[in-house]
Amino acid sequence: MVETPALPGNTADKDKSTPARQSRPRIGVLALQGDFIEHIHTLEKLDVDVVEVRKPGQLADLDGLIIPGGESTTICKLIGLFDFEKPLEQFVERGSALWGTCAGMIVIARELTDPYPRPLDLLNIKVSRNWFGRQVDSFEDDFEFRGIEGGPFRAVFIRAPVVEEVGEGVEVIASLDDGHAVAVRSGNILATAFHPELTDDPRVHAYFVEMAKHGAAKRSQGDSGP
Ligand code: GLN
Repeated sequence: MVETPALPGNTADKDKSTPARQSRPRIGVLALQGDFIEHIHTLEKLDVDVVEVRKPGQLADLDGLIIPGGESTTICKLIGLFDFEKPLEQFVERGSALWGTCAGMIVIARELTDPYPRPLDLLNIKVSRNWFGRQVDSFEDDFEFRGIEGGPFRAVFIRAPVVEEVGEGVEVIASLDDGHAVAVRSGNILATAFHPELTDDPRVHAYFVEMAKHGAAKRSQGDSGP
């Protein structure tokens, strides 16, 4: 794992002035609350530099960021407290890849069916928290994940949300038999209701790293959008 010092200032402008600096993508995991360690362990199986992110300035030189599972009200509170909101918006605007797993999906949604927390409105989906019930109703199931080869993917659901409404521009990449989406993507943003970091299968992480590489390649060609 690589520790980076926090970089002050405007993340978007800094990134534009940064020359193509490395071939290994740098992937951060938001480490405010939740199962960030498990994501870090999975990323360490891949050819990437991994950064534990605790300050907004650290977003400046990342190609991708994962918001882990945990407790979405707490993560949202800490995002507000540590002033991550604007930098996260700029991170997505400059085309860097963002992935929310479970609580992370709730945090980045446009809207919730629940009264709280107030999500960040980065991804055009409406999400229902705790859709499957309580902690005891956690379960595992196999899913076909559009865009990932090698057979079905074992998904672990822990007090998981589902996507109630898929907005314009959002592609469903895995869904339940009843039609509820549990994995979606819109350009440089990915969201999964389940926890790929709790399996031994790094294919969803590898898929996300490809998204991050794609964004980085586009940015180095001077195209700042997703
Ligand atoms: N139920 C939690 C929430 O609403 C999410 C659970 C998880 O991330 N495993 O934040």
